[in-house]
Amino acid sequence: MPAHDVLIIGAGLAGQRAALAAADAGASVAIISKVHPVRSHSVAAAGGINAALNPEDSWESHAFDTVKGSDYLGDQDAIEIMCREAPDEILWLEHAGVTFHRNGTGHLGTRAFGGASQARTYYVADITGQAILHVLYERLMMHGERISRYEEWFTTTLLQDDTGACVGCVARDIRTGALEVFDAKSVILASGGAGQAFKPTTNALICTGDGIAQAYRIGAPLMDMEMIQYHPTTLAENGFLITEGARGEGAHLYNALGERFMEKYAPNKLELASRDVVSRAEQTEINEGRGFPDGTIALDITKVPRKRTLEALREIVNIGKDFAGVDITREPIHIKPGMHYIMGGVKTDFDGQTPVPGLYAAGEVACVSVHGGNRLGANSLLDTLIFGRRSGEHAAGRARGVAMPRSSPGVLTDAQGEIDDILNRPTGGRRISEIKTELGETMNRYVAVYRDAEGLATALEIVQRLKQEAPNAAIDDKGTVFNQDVLAAIELGYMLDVAEAIVVAAQERRESRGAQFRTDYPERNDAEWLHHITVSLNGDGPDLGTAPVTMTRWEPQERTY
Ligand SMILES: Cc1cc2nc3c(=O)[nH]c(=O)nc-3n(C[C@H](O)[C@H](O)[C@H](O)COP(=O)(O)OP(=O)(O)OC[C@H]3O[C@@H](n4cnc5c(N)ncnc54)[C@H](O)[C@@H]3O)c2cc1C
Repeated sequence: MPAHDVLIIGAGLAGQRAALAAADAGASVAIISKVHPVRSHSVAAAGGINAALNPEDSWESHAFDTVKGSDYLGDQDAIEIMCREAPDEILWLEHAGVTFHRNGTGHLGTRAFGGASQARTYYVADITGQAILHVLYERLMMHGERISRYEEWFTTTLLQDDTGACVGCVARDIRTGALEVFDAKSVILASGGAGQAFKPTTNALICTGDGIAQAYRIGAPLMDMEMIQYHPTTLAENGFLITEGARGEGAHLYNALGERFMEKYAPNKLELASRDVVSRAEQTEINEGRGFPDGTIALDITKVPRKRTLEALREIVNIGKDFAGVDITREPIHIKPGMHYIMGGVKTDFDGQTPVPGLYAAGEVACVSVHGGNRLGANSLLDTLIFGRRSGEHAAGRARGVAMPRSSPGVLTDAQGEIDDILNRPTGGRRISEIKTELGETMNRYVAVYRDAEGLATALEIVQRLKQEAPNAAIDDKGTVFNQDVLAAIELGYMLDVAEAIVVAAQERRESRGAQFRTDYPERNDAEWLHHITVSLNGDGPDLGTAPVTMTRWEPQERTY
């Protein structure tokens, strides 16, 4: 039975950064990932990572942009930490071997991103996530003596001792179907977002909200769950992302009348307003009949010099050709707002600690909350690294004062019983994929850019019906080797829990702020709603609560771009 000081569930950027920090602090570390680590979703991150590194820029300016971007729902103490520590993190990455773009003078070069008052996004063409993830993975392998890697292992359950502290997990070796108990003094969830609860989404198939649901099920509160980011530029057919880097490089948005409509909605920042503002503007144009017949808007990247596009945006050149049949260097590509990111997650402090002792969370699974109502582009990679590192350091420190827990063998028997129940389901129920599609389409219809009470009530009714149907969904594969059917059944349960938490939080927030626009409550209402909404599991269903927003130096103002 593996036993480690620090157990990390998830090997994307947050998990790998946490592992390196915990190992550097002297801890023995295990890192588990349901896919090979460099296939974690962080590999898809395209446009870049923010930091106020230029002498003309300041961390205070970065922090204010982030607070304003969050529609004043972000916790300012955590935002200050993230922005203050950002420059050193970029330098650490560069020294570790990340080949960030350099400008004509040989200095690290930046590109503009939405909602930022300075061009402070550092990038590697449009493969920034891949570049960083591979360098971290090399480091992980160099730390082989301290870090044990469990690749293609799927965590099913978090374990608690009699006091309620988190003391490990149960995981299934996907290659053989064998279950194993992992004991640990500290556990860090770094298992990413939950985009697959929506259809379409920019997120990979593996983003199924596992960690959010696992933490929720053992009593950790979730926070800001209503805040779902719709990215302004995704392909209509399949949700693929066209990076904000395109607008950062100078691309324009046009409606079907040829109008550069952002002049109306954000006269100063235009296409580089924050994402919630641009997505709402696009959706308004589409809803009011000024979109194209296929329900889209045109993104014109031909405004960017062709040579520059081919050099700095080469991935989306390929995506345009392969998935839309469009040469973006010569003609506009049609896009629309699409589900992209969850600002909410497991509530943590700025060392990653959740209210469950011994349980930490970092990255997209967590809500620190540095993004509040709306995340600025290129702030997520930063969030994963800063709070991944801080969680790793803190979890290692905590482990020094804790004895190694030992789980009882009964834990494994219970976990095997749950897998057997799935395998022994009678055939004939609805298919997992059908339920998942209904869930995704429901969320995308009723819990999207614009929301109202009636739509949210319909969404909740459907999600709760799907929760009843899911335990009977048919399983075809009864085997042990790479049984994706069993995993899909477990993931469906996670997505349904997450979806329910999102909908009830969206119902509760009766105002419009950041990514949550309620057509029945169109104004921001600081007097009644300038607080976080929390969701905790009570018996079988969600319980709502509140948490204060931490203000340090920026009072809420009207938000214009
Ligand atoms: C297309 C796209 C482009 C983006 N571009 C940018 C960008 O340019 N800049 C930016 O700041 N942000 C960007 N983002 C957002 C950013 O990429 C993500 O928020 C971030 O990478 C999440 O990292 P993470 O480490 O939290 O999770 P992930 O990278 O998603 O890693 C999650 C890990 O958890 C593991 N895992 C999950 N469940 C289990 C389980 N049950 N058992 C075991 N392991 C499990 C997975 O295998 C994986 O290793 C982009 C997002 C998308 C979708």
